[in-house]
Amino acid sequence: MSTAGHFIRCLAAVAWEAGKPLAMEEVEVAPPQKKEVRIKVHFTSVCHTDVCFWEAKGQTPLFPRILGHEAGGVVESVGEGVTDLQPGDHVLPIFTGECGNCRHCHSEESNMCDLLRINTDRGGMIHDGESRFSTNGKPIHHFLGTSTFSEYTVVHSGQVAKINPDAPLDKVCIVSCGLSTGLGATLNVAKPKRGQSVAIFGLGAVGLAAAEGARISGAARIIGVDLNPKRFEDAKKFGVTEFVNPREHDKPVQQVIIEMTDGGVDRSVECTGSVQAMIQAFECVHEGWGVAVLVGVPRQDDAFRTHPMNFLNERTLKGSFFGNYKPKTDIPGVVEKYMNKELDLEKFITHTVPFSEINKAFDYMSKGECIRCIIDMGA
Ligand code: NAD
Ligand code: ZN
Repeated sequence: MSTAGHFIRCLAAVAWEAGKPLAMEEVEVAPPQKKEVRIKVHFTSVCHTDVCFWEAKGQTPLFPRILGHEAGGVVESVGEGVTDLQPGDHVLPIFTGECGNCRHCHSEESNMCDLLRINTDRGGMIHDGESRFSTNGKPIHHFLGTSTFSEYTVVHSGQVAKINPDAPLDKVCIVSCGLSTGLGATLNVAKPKRGQSVAIFGLGAVGLAAAEGARISGAARIIGVDLNPKRFEDAKKFGVTEFVNPREHDKPVQQVIIEMTDGGVDRSVECTGSVQAMIQAFECVHEGWGVAVLVGVPRQDDAFRTHPMNFLNERTLKGSFFGNYKPKTDIPGVVEKYMNKELDLEKFITHTVPFSEINKAFDYMSKGECIRCIIDMGA
């Protein structure tokens, strides 16, 4: 019997309170409304942002909430006005969207959609501000418009990328956030040329994806910079050729890199969120042509301080959001890069757990023990 138009009862991992283990609850998922689709989530994974909003340190706390934003699934039904998706489509929900109608969506240069750009404070759907999730009649807040830690979820169709149905969802689910952010920062913004040198600051999933972008671009030297020496072992698999731990040097790390590279790296990508690392990433690029790209999310009161001469000497500083990818237009192409073996995703996936053990995945991520832990919703 078709479930379209009906409420669906299913399991979801609900965050009731900051920092408390997620609880498996039976929830009701309402049918999709105007411009929305309901998705059966097959695989999801935990990203640092889920942990940040679960801990709710420094963010507006919003509970109860269903977290989760990296996932792969299949469309179960579509709401009124959805013309580009239909039941059975294989999709990745994305934390930021593409309405197709605003100035940003019309610009080739931007992915910062006015309507569907990331909004971490919103707990309901854009259409009516209401939640599509409830348990015992009590509404549960959405997260980033995706809420993938549920067997079924409702997402705005502008936040859903339709992908090749042959792509294995247990692998390509990671394309929906961290992987694309780092990869795109290198491929779309830093754009290293074959044979150039690239420094990557921060070797978490985002930084390693940026390194993967440098490898694909044919960079000759990929210099990984991290305060955590444990990250260097993992990073070797990602083509990182040299390592710098700022703690092991008396000189500023930009000085160390300038000396290693006879004047500076050609490109750098900052994936730490530390403002010091952002300044270092800028100041270590070569005069005349060096480009630095900031990806990490700084703290609210941070300020970027550098001498203006660093710009006059023809260094360029850029920032990137979601790797400058337009979610609906570009993400299917990233999946194709995996399908034609240009992009390696397996090495990012260090752990897998069944949905019932989702709290383990949070543990691995908070302790920095995994790159990505996949949650198998069907296991
Ligand atoms: P992560 O915590 O897994 O990795 C960050 C790494 O940076 C860690 O290994 C840490 O040891 C290292 N680090 C911290 N301070 C450092 C310093 N001063 N010098 C060198 N290394 C340092 O995080 P992640 O999931 O890989 O995310 C990286 C950053 O990207 C975060 O700030 C995250 O919020 C941000 N992010 C941005 C976007 C975007 O669209 N711009 C999207 C997703 C994530
Ligand atoms: Zn738009």
